[in-house]
Amino acid sequence: MLRRRNSPTPFAGVLVEHECPRCHRAVELPLGALCRSCVAEIERRAARWGNRISLVTTIVLAVYMYFFRLSPDPTARLVSAMAIVIWFALSNIVVRRAVRELMR
Ligand SMILES: [Zn+2]
Repeated sequence: MLRRRNSPTPFAGVLVEHECPRCHRAVELPLGALCRSCVAEIERRAARWGNRISLVTTIVLAVYMYFFRLSPDPTARLVSAMAIVIWFALSNIVVRRAVRELMR
């Protein structure tokens, strides 16, 4: 690779930001990255929102299944219970991801 001696623009791999783009705290970061405290705060909020929203929607789904779709067949009940657990896990993952992306 050719590199001019007095170029004001270094290679993209060594571009460094001198402040966090989110909280404007003075730190050395790769271009576009957030500081450690911002990443931790985003993760904490994403986990909290993910747990809240998936819990509420899971309760709604469980109540619906219990009162309107409860089958006397034990296999159907087992499948319903598994669907509720899977719903909790998937909605938690989706909400965490959405909050993480929205807060950047
Ligand atoms: Zn920051």
